[in-house]
Amino acid sequence: MRYVDYGVAIELDGVRWHSGETRYLDDARDNRSALDGFRTLRYGWLKVAYHPCEVAHEVWSLLVKQGYRRDFHACGTGCALQLGAPVTVSAVERR
Ligand SMILES: [Zn+2]
Repeated sequence: MRYVDYGVAIELDGVRWHSGETRYLDDARDNRSALDGFRTLRYGWLKVAYHPCEVAHEVWSLLVKQGYRRDFHACGTGCALQLGAPVTVSAVERR
């Protein structure tokens, strides 16, 4: 997935499909993305399946660093991040 307006690419890796030739193709795609000015975050299935809130927060954080200007909200009352309040864009910019 690419957020073209912010120069951010998200890659999902699965062990089954990422060895040998497919790994080579992934590397080639990553290199093209870098040459196009994209910053890439890569995630495996386990991370996305078991830690989706962390993934969402990391993606949002990179988007903010690239110019996105909306605050991050928890996904619900049971959110694993236990934010208490939305994370503001300025909180990321101060880091
Ligand atoms: Zn959440």
